[in-house]
Amino acid sequence: MNLSYWEIKTWLTNVDFTVVGSGIVGLNCALQLKEKFPKAKILILEKGTLPQGASTKNAGFACFGSLSEILDDLNTHTQQEVISLIKKRVEGLQLLRNTLGDKTINYQQLGGYELFTKKDSSLFQECLAKKETINKLLKPIFGEAVFSLKDNSFRFNNIQEQYIFNQYEGQIDTGKMMDALLQKVLSKGVKILNNVSVNTFSEANNSVKIETNLFDFTTSKLLIATNGFASQLHIAEVKPARAQVLITKPIKNLHIKGTFHLDKGYYYFRNIDDRILFGGGRNLDFKTEETTVLAQTAIIQNQLETLLKTTILPNTSFEIEHRWSGIMGVGSQKKAIVKPLSNNVFCGVRLGGMGVAIGSLVGKELANLIPVQTEI
Ligand SMILES: Cc1cc2nc3c(=O)[nH]c(=O)nc-3n(C[C@H](O)[C@H](O)[C@H](O)COP(=O)(O)OP(=O)(O)OC[C@H]3O[C@@H](n4cnc5c(N)ncnc54)[C@H](O)[C@@H]3O)c2cc1C
Repeated sequence: MNLSYWEIKTWLTNVDFTVVGSGIVGLNCALQLKEKFPKAKILILEKGTLPQGASTKNAGFACFGSLSEILDDLNTHTQQEVISLIKKRVEGLQLLRNTLGDKTINYQQLGGYELFTKKDSSLFQECLAKKETINKLLKPIFGEAVFSLKDNSFRFNNIQEQYIFNQYEGQIDTGKMMDALLQKVLSKGVKILNNVSVNTFSEANNSVKIETNLFDFTTSKLLIATNGFASQLHIAEVKPARAQVLITKPIKNLHIKGTFHLDKGYYYFRNIDDRILFGGGRNLDFKTEETTVLAQTAIIQNQLETLLKTTILPNTSFEIEHRWSGIMGVGSQKKAIVKPLSNNVFCGVRLGGMGVAIGSLVGKELANLIPVQTEI
């Protein structure tokens, strides 16, 4: 790239902190760094024209885990780990709401519903049997029972006639949240360069040399917030997981309001602007979906459409307006990875399907890895 003296001096010289990725984590990390180090020169590099991973692609559920998901997590994590995961999600959501304001992100606590298919009657029975135990486990966090039973008032088809309701679950407008976050970061004087992809980096003389698709430069500290793309920068513990979504055209008198989890959380849908946003189905083809390629596949999109017709909107005519996908970062454990990779390189990645909830907190924790006494 043919850079001028001015461009090099203004944007790429004496950079204190370089953040890779302008998703929820990268932006919150930059905000926190600016708060801790007001004089610091902070640069965010983003490979997309818009953020291009999950933060602008997600379903906008402000959730912390359905009952079956919590029970499933208890099979692979200790009770203490599960409580700590839920606490972080609740704390993260509060931080997001405090940072941007409920009105700005259109936060609405309409409640969350877990639906069980007709075939899932044993899982439904297990959830019913363990509901009170989990409510007790969560009482110290919420002060009241989280999960209760509700009748199928939305008239979904092919499901058990009752759902499990979570009174604390909410939803946001993802676009408004990311737009506000970007504006806030820019207003603090943080610079964002789009269409710049970090290819590699190396430590040199107590600084980090960064090579991008367009130019090379040096930064004092590098903070990696690339989630599903983390393995491309040698963070091997994170695997990409694509998630596909569709949205209907507006539906007259849409009676469905809230966030919904179906079939052990493999499917999720919600109302937004008189439409239904519906995603999931990775379990149909896990191997193909372990990719960073933003695309849709027939097998998943057809199943989403079938479920819309047969289960979610069986008596309502609808048309699909648009389809898209995003890339999550997953691994063997649900806990995010927030750690130093070397003296001057740090990462905050592996947010799974809960980044709306934990993204703000992970960004803050990533920034807090930098010692306060760091010279600027
Ligand atoms: C379809 C879908 C639905 C979801 N629904 C929900 C939900 O309802 N609720 C919820 O809590 N979570 C949901 N999630 C998960 C949530 O969106 C993510 O956990 C969260 O957005 C992760 O944020 P992040 O900042 O870590 O990563 P990202 O948003 O992926 O940001 C990483 C950024 O890094 C950039 N990048 C990557 N590599 C490079 C590089 N080498 N150089 C420069 N830039 C780079 C990418 O372009 C990207 O913008 C969903 C995810 C998807 C895909």
